[in-house]
Formats: sequence, structure tokens, C-alpha cells
Amino acid sequence: MSYKTTCPYCGVGCGIEINRSGSKLKLIGDKNSPVNQGMLCIKGQTLLETVGTDNQRLLQPSIGTWAETIQAIADKFKHTKKDEIALYVSGQMLMEDLYIAKKFADSYGIKNLESNSRLCMYSTVEANKRAYGADIVPVSYDDIYSAETIFIIGSNTADCHPIVFNHIKKSKAFVVCVDVYETITAKQSDLFIQVEQGRDLELINDLPNQVWFSDKKVLSVYSQGLTQSTDATDKVNSLINAHILTGNINKPGCGVLSLTGQCNAMGGREIGTKTKDITATEFFSTNQIKTLWVMSTNPAHSMINYRQFDTLIVSDFTQTLTTKDADIILPACPWSEKSGHLKNSERRYLKQQAFLPPAGNSKPDWQIICLVAKALGLSGFDFEHADEVWQEMNIDESWSPQIQVREELVVIDPSNRVYKNNVKNNARLLTHWHGMTRTGKSQTLNKMTQKNPQMQSIHHITNTEFFKDKKVELDKYSKQPCFKG
Ligand code: SF4
Repeated sequence: MSYKTTCPYCGVGCGIEINRSGSKLKLIGDKNSPVNQGMLCIKGQTLLETVGTDNQRLLQPSIGTWAETIQAIADKFKHTKKDEIALYVSGQMLMEDLYIAKKFADSYGIKNLESNSRLCMYSTVEANKRAYGADIVPVSYDDIYSAETIFIIGSNTADCHPIVFNHIKKSKAFVVCVDVYETITAKQSDLFIQVEQGRDLELINDLPNQVWFSDKKVLSVYSQGLTQSTDATDKVNSLINAHILTGNINKPGCGVLSLTGQCNAMGGREIGTKTKDITATEFFSTNQIKTLWVMSTNPAHSMINYRQFDTLIVSDFTQTLTTKDADIILPACPWSEKSGHLKNSERRYLKQQAFLPPAGNSKPDWQIICLVAKALGLSGFDFEHADEVWQEMNIDESWSPQIQVREELVVIDPSNRVYKNNVKNNARLLTHWHGMTRTGKSQTLNKMTQKNPQMQSIHHITNTEFFKDKKVELDKYSKQPCFKG
């Protein structure tokens, strides 16, 4: 039997074909996918090493049967003030999961619903709203092949979004790369411009004066190097302004493309998983939230101010640092065991199709949320299949990248900004993904992981050697290494 599905890692959204014969599985890139035309990076190629069960897989609710566990959560919610409850969801969840999470939060009156994609993408959302009047992505991957110049800034595309970089290398465009250090992407570009940390805003403002920008059809590509930096919203806004000023917009080969980190970060952005009260970082940095339900993400690993909550509920498919802290653990299905939709960096809807049955007693996230909603007496959560959720979402899949450009641009002034030099930058590895809860299961990826001599890893899993001679202890709550003395 053959299944068409989508790689669950990055926002490129590569199509995959799985052939299953009994217990034997074979994976290839989907040649008919408009995204990757059969190409897959090493993470996509090794996905089958990460599916199924191992001794870290979560198979049962942690405190009894499903009915007992759901009732315990409902009781906890009933005894907590609504503004002290938060749902922390993830760009790993499918559209159907996120829609149900939002519907539940709205129906029950929970204002604090946020996605982990807040950390990487909200500067782009705000910049788009400022520049276009709405959060719009006015380009597609096809523009790579019509562009004359591809301007890459704050993105090691070759390592982090490899199949997009394959397209870039296959195009005939002149590739300009701006970064603070010479990445693989920089080495493979036609022109590398090294900037001091924080000085990229001046360079972006000067783009209309560069011949390779102003007189060419330009596609700009960026990711977290821009969106997670100081003044990120201004930088993205300024980049869009440079395109508007040079007429590099609304034409084939022209525009601004933000490469999204997670497979469905874009979907969450569209569904509106954005708090009406405090932000995701404030869930952790303030004491307001008493009951936190974390779904498909690992804040104990990734949130710098991670703290303990009165009640921590975690839905995930595998043990993580966060599940170690949890009061209630709910076994959720991973990508291979659930079906639904996601949306990639170019805002294309893609399908994920289950090719394995749910292991143990695990369930898709949308089903788990529906059970809690019903236990709280809410109506409108009687779905049998993900298809029914999708139908209720009633999404218009027709897609037009044309945008209305505002007549008056928001002026971005680069003067009087405070920059810090010698701040360590973080990076993503070609062979691993986020906290490695999935890629760490692949022997091939683990063997292939090489240290870049320019990089100094401070990751507690990948660099135990680095910590060997240092005074390092694990933080009490986050379990992350912290230096002493
Ligand atoms: S580029 Fe991204 S979506 Fe494509 S195979 Fe690699 S990790 Fe998966």
C-alpha cells in the first residue's frame, strides 16, 4: 500500500511517498510534489529510523485510563481561574489540531493560547501587517526560478532548509548572502557580505542603492537570523520597503520569502494561535499561569525562563525534558500515525497521511483536546475523524499571492540603535532538528553529525565533551547546563 504524506520537520514541506508491505516500510521523495519533485534532505531520507516505538515512546496516559486522566484535567481546569490557565501549542501540530485547540480555548474562555512559533515568527507577522496591512506571503518557491538575484539574509538555507537551497542552486540567479559568519550557504553564494552583529539594518536600508538589487528581479529569503534578532520587526519591514521602493514586488521572481522553521508554523499563524493576554514567553517569565498544558513542544529544553507550574500537563509522543516535569502526561500520536493538513513557508496546503496505526493508547492531539472539552461540558467537539474537523474549518484553498501595497511606507530609522558585539549566535544543524527528540532516534543522523570548527556547541546533548572540564551544573528546572563561577 502506498501513502503520500509530508515531511514533519522544516517549513519547506517536502512530499514523501511511503510504501508499506506488512511491517516493511520504504520511503522515497514524492516526485509529483510541487515542493520537492522527489528531492529529500538527509533528515527526510532517514525519517523511517525515527518512527514506531522505542523505550522512550509514550503509550498510555500517565495517571490511569483515558477517562480518569481526562476527568482529572477537567477537574483541574474547573478549579483554576481561567486567566491562570494557558495552552502552549506548537508548529509541529496539524491544522486540525490547532483549529480544535483554538476552538476549545475560545469556547471555554481561555485567553492564553500561544504557539512556540511566537519565538521565531511574530516579528515577520508584525512586519507584514505594517508593510502590507495584513500577514501575507506574496511569493512561492516558483519565484526562485524567475528571480535574477536571490538575496539571502540571516539564513543558513543550505543547512536549515536544504531543499529550498537546492532550488536556489539549480536556478540561474546571482546569489548574495549576508550573515555574521561564513556559513555553508555563504560559501556557495556568488557574493558573501559579512556583517557585524546587529548592523544588518543599515545594510538592508541601503539595498535600493545596490545594482544587483535595484535593477534586477530580486527574491529575498530570510529566516531566524533576521526574525530572532534585535529590532527584528523593523528589519523585516525595512526589507519589504526595499522591495516596494524598487518595484520588486507582485511580479514573478520578486518578493520576500520568510523560511518558516517548523512544518506547520505557518498554519498556526493563520489560525491565530496568539494570546489575547500575556505572551508565550510570559507564561514562563511571570507567575500568572498556574496550569499549563503543553502540546508537542519541549519548553523545558527551549525556554530560557522555564519554571515550574502548579499543574503541568504535557501531550507528546516521546519522553522529553518537559515530560519529566509533568504532573499529567498524555500520549499523542506522532506524524506517522495521524492525518491532516499543514501549511508550508510559501503558504501551500499539504497533507499528512497516517501510514501506521496509533501505537499503544495514543491519540491525535485534536482528539485529546475534544475529550477535555466534552468533559468540561462544551458542545461542538463531537468529531469522529480529522476530515470532519477539516470540513468544519471550511478553508478556501484558492491562493492568490497578489497584495495591496500601502501608499505610505513605515519609515525605519537605523540610527541610535544599541548593538552588542560578541554575542553568541545560535544555529541549526543539517542533521538534527530542534531538541533532537525525533532526530536523536536516527543512528544515521547521529553518526553524520559533525562539529563545524567555527562553531562552539553549548548543547548539552551534542557536546558533553565540551562540558567535561568545565564547572557546569544542570539548571534545577530547565535541566539545561548553566556555568558556575
Ligand atoms: S528540507 Fe525540510 S521538509 Fe524537506 S526533507 Fe529536509 S527537513 Fe524535510
